Amino acid sequence: MTTQAFANSKPAISLVVMTDLDGTLLDHYNYSTRAARPALKQLKALGVPVLFNTSKTCEEVAGLRHDLDNLDPFVCENGSVIHIPKTDGEGYNSEILGTSYVDILKVLSQLRKEGRKFRGFNDMPASEVAALTGLSQESAWMSKQRVASEPLIWNDTELALTAFRSQLEQAGLQLTQGGRFYHVMGRADKATGLAFARDFYQHLWEQPVKIAALGDGENDRAMLEAADFPIVIPGEKQILELSNPAAVTAPSKGPAGWNHCMLELLEQLQQGA
Ligand SMILES: [Mg+2]
Repeated sequence: MTTQAFANSKPAISLVVMTDLDGTLLDHYNYSTRAARPALKQLKALGVPVLFNTSKTCEEVAGLRHDLDNLDPFVCENGSVIHIPKTDGEGYNSEILGTSYVDILKVLSQLRKEGRKFRGFNDMPASEVAALTGLSQESAWMSKQRVASEPLIWNDTELALTAFRSQLEQAGLQLTQGGRFYHVMGRADKATGLAFARDFYQHLWEQPVKIAALGDGENDRAMLEAADFPIVIPGEKQILELSNPAAVTAPSKGPAGWNHCMLELLEQLQQGA
């Protein structure tokens, strides 16, 4: 039985780790975290929290948190929402950092009435999401459990898309382009999640904290730029170049690179402590 949802005792070093999942902690092809296990084990032994910061939904992340015995808070839907486990271990307190799903759907419904042509996850049964993404029916259902962002397919011209984008901006929302879908969300990104985590742990531990962030994609850029120890994991298509002078690039992709750089950082910080 879990008695403590996440460590509120200060770790040996005042560090928080924040990580992207796909292509970063998870292997791009087989979704395994195996190569990162040595570093994850050492972080756990030190009491350093490891916060996932992902485009996935809360439901999609639950299995991985369980597999890794991860009890720390986590950020979903590209920085739009942070889930903080309750201290009794049952469920989460969720803080929306962007705009709530209901408010996003209200704006989309109004724009549809004005003639904008799109089809969002809210309009699709799980079977349709499964067909579009290649996910299983169950995974598709989990990806439909949105809290603060809406993926959609655009069914009109580029010109109409430009108008749609500016209408969303006027409503306080933004449109980002992902691999398969456009995403409508509030004014948050993965750096919003990092700022929340910094503040949260500084209050909890009553001391300044350093944040190590790991990511491989364009949507990780703002998070990496805001980190004290940014670790770039080489992506499938590109290697992010940051202006943050503390940035290091991992020697290999995915969890192997994650492991290498994290062990190196821990050694460096423990020597300095
Ligand atoms: Mg990624």
